[in-house]
Amino acid sequence: MTDRTKTSRPQKSKWYRKPLKLDGINFNKNHFLVGFQWPYTNCMGTTYLTTMTAEGWTCECMGFTSHGRCKHIKQVHEKMIAE
Ligand SMILES: [Zn+2]
Repeated sequence: MTDRTKTSRPQKSKWYRKPLKLDGINFNKNHFLVGFQWPYTNCMGTTYLTTMTAEGWTCECMGFTSHGRCKHIKQVHEKMIAE
């Protein structure tokens, strides 16, 4: 498991949305799951979409937009590599 700490990279856009690559999946544009989205609804009734891109995982939640990682991505990723 990669343990990425916050980078000092300047933000390119409003949100911090650099896709997160995790070990176990070879992310590339030909991967059959690229573009696939997994929805998560939290206890507040808010739904977030975790998306697989050719560059790695992205998520709409606060954790990902502010820290570049979140539990949703971890959950989906572990599900993927378990298969
Ligand atoms: Zn998330």
